[in-house]
Amino acid sequence: MLLYIHIPFCDSKCSYCAFNSYVDKFAQREKYMHALSLQLTYEFKRFDVSETNLIETVFIGGGTPSTVDPHLYSNIFQTIRPFLKPNAEITSEANPNSATYEWLEGMYALGVNRISFGVQSFNDTKLKILGRAHNTTHALEAIKNAHEIGFQRLSLDLIYGVKGDTKELLTNDLEQAFSLPIDHLSLYALTIEEHTAFEKTPELAREEIEMTEWLFEQIESRGFEQYEISNFGTTKSAHNLGYWKGKDYIGLGAGAVGFLKNTRFYPSTDIEHYISNPLEITEELLDENALLGEKLFLGFRSCVGVEAALLSPKQKSEADLLVNETILEYQHGRYFNPNFLLADEIALRVEGY
Ligand code: SF4
Repeated sequence: MLLYIHIPFCDSKCSYCAFNSYVDKFAQREKYMHALSLQLTYEFKRFDVSETNLIETVFIGGGTPSTVDPHLYSNIFQTIRPFLKPNAEITSEANPNSATYEWLEGMYALGVNRISFGVQSFNDTKLKILGRAHNTTHALEAIKNAHEIGFQRLSLDLIYGVKGDTKELLTNDLEQAFSLPIDHLSLYALTIEEHTAFEKTPELAREEIEMTEWLFEQIESRGFEQYEISNFGTTKSAHNLGYWKGKDYIGLGAGAVGFLKNTRFYPSTDIEHYISNPLEITEELLDENALLGEKLFLGFRSCVGVEAALLSPKQKSEADLLVNETILEYQHGRYFNPNFLLADEIALRVEGY
């Protein structure tokens, strides 16, 4: 069982961002955190959380979790602490400008043991284009502070495929990243989403497959294994792996999503509505085809692979054909995809049979 907590507050809106986040709702922070506690207690019953059904990982995402003071998280941590697996991975996302030394120290004291920093680039001009609120100095300082405080597990996000990217710029991004005490890196191609500032300038997204492959090689040559299309590390994120393995997850907060067996849960995305009605949660029932489709897409995009026993005889013979074509690999009853860039194509091919 995994737990995701959504913090929908941000200092400013990045130009590419379509996440559920608000820059003008800080006054709601305390009430929001209280509503999270109410939903948490409710979800613990629904998900049957107990001493024999513990929480394996926690991920605080957003939005920007570092815009909320650690003491406002303490009730939530008090509730979850008795139900955490020993050595549970507890990650918080953070932005370099708001993850101050005090914030990092406070979260460490609560039990957070992994920080994922939204760095995106170490080039200040590119950061400005992306509409980020921090600069390179903030990023370097925040990550060094986190390490000094005692965080052993640190990750950062980088964005590529932006107009103006060159191999030189991206090499500098990687060199700066690898000069830091990180064990994990997430790499995302810029995509243009509806209702973002970039919507009107789609030409800013310039992903070229040759550059993507080059970046993958560069990261792997520095010793970080690619274990999903966008994720690399010497240590894998147990929370991410949990999603891809199809584990149940509690989704807490405005804009979060939960999943239990065959049902998805959607709390309200509107902060005020969520605060007044944290238990008003929409349910979506997934049929067997939808569940299998998800397993195929997630499995082929990651090191998790796809269990052969889940496939129909026709789907299995299509997967075997892909093994013969050396596109897929087969081991111990599972199909694995060694080239994540082909994942969607492979999933569609197998699913169609
Ligand atoms: S900090 Fe993250 S969630 Fe907030 S606006 Fe930027 S990309 Fe979106």
